[in-house]
Amino acid sequence: MKKTTGMDRATTRNWRPATQAVRGGTWRSEHGETSEAMFLTSGYTYDDAQTVADRFAGEAQGMTYSRLQNPTVAMLEERIALLEGAEACRAQATGMAAMTAALLCQLSAGDHCVAARAAFGSCRWLVDNLLPRFGIETTVVDSADTAQWEAAIKPNTKVFFFETPANPTLDIVDLKAVCAIAKAHGITSVVDNAFASPALQRPMEFGADVVAYSATKLMDGQGRVLAGAICGSEEWVLETLMPFQRNTGPTLSAFNAWVVHKGLETLSMRAHQHSRNAIELGEFMEARIVKAGGEMRHPGLPSHAAHALATAQMDATGPIFAFDVRTRERAFAMLDALELIDISNNIGDARSLMCHPASTTHAGLTDEARAEMGVTEGLLRINVGLEDIADIAEDMDRAMKAAGI
Ligand SMILES: *Cc1c(COP(=O)(O)O)cnc(C)c1O
Repeated sequence: MKKTTGMDRATTRNWRPATQAVRGGTWRSEHGETSEAMFLTSGYTYDDAQTVADRFAGEAQGMTYSRLQNPTVAMLEERIALLEGAEACRAQATGMAAMTAALLCQLSAGDHCVAARAAFGSCRWLVDNLLPRFGIETTVVDSADTAQWEAAIKPNTKVFFFETPANPTLDIVDLKAVCAIAKAHGITSVVDNAFASPALQRPMEFGADVVAYSATKLMDGQGRVLAGAICGSEEWVLETLMPFQRNTGPTLSAFNAWVVHKGLETLSMRAHQHSRNAIELGEFMEARIVKAGGEMRHPGLPSHAAHALATAQMDATGPIFAFDVRTRERAFAMLDALELIDISNNIGDARSLMCHPASTTHAGLTDEARAEMGVTEGLLRINVGLEDIADIAEDMDRAMKAAGI
């Protein structure tokens, strides 16, 4: 494959994120195709025996098996690394494959992991259930309170794990402060950046060691495929992640990688338009929600406790916000009155989607865990899509009226 316009990092490293998303890491075959080629192959053939022996010995570059490398997937990994400002990236089958691999590749029995208590339901399940089963101790903290991270450190703490903004409560973690605490104690910080995507927030600029993604969300952006990614230093990826990944196989398919390539081309533009729509909708709703005794949780609005921090560490605040209408009855009345916005638990999609986390994404947690992370019975989470904001607002107006708001 001919590596034009992208593989030479000296040329392309300084491109800005929107350019990386379209062109970073481009490989072209001898046909000079404009769009990325899709290599649907599990295996590879070799001209002679020595070539394959050298590749298996790690002495020559080249593909050997698609669990380990695939040209379409490798191009996506290069592009995401350039977009993130990371030395290296490995694509994963799903976001949860990425989170699981990022934790299990580096934690062993006897280690301790400090994690955010406000987190995507499956991320909390890893922390509360999976890690302890393998003898890994875990502590959850209020992630927005920086002092709690420091206070939770023990001599055996190896990893900090959190997302910001957090799903679904929109808590904001001070990336710079928390990553600095990790660094000072030799702890690896793992940031789940699914809500923002690298178009809106690049945690490594604030000192994060490892950034993990659900690429299912804004990167694909059109609700088509599941995908994930993990970014880190070259050394960490090769020595810590790869022994785990190559032998356990959470590999991304070439087809799904290709779809994510198509999503990345419009990522920056979409992410900023989603953010503008989300702010407009939040402004339209806020006074009525508050007047009805409810609460907005929107990092893009000045009323959010960490608004200044969110806007300082993010280029824009993204498509997602939450609001509390205090009762399940009101929340369900709103969902049932929607005509344009779909009832759906997905996010990062071009469509506006709304869900009730307590009965869906966070239903698998204990009542106690839900209460402690702020997933109340009246909480609704919305992914504000790319439809005309006037139509979205009209639908929300109808829903609020149906709930007496
Ligand atoms: C969706 C999501 C995940 C899981 O990603 P999948 O691609 O669905 O496996 C993890 N973390 C966050 C914050 C998410 O929103």
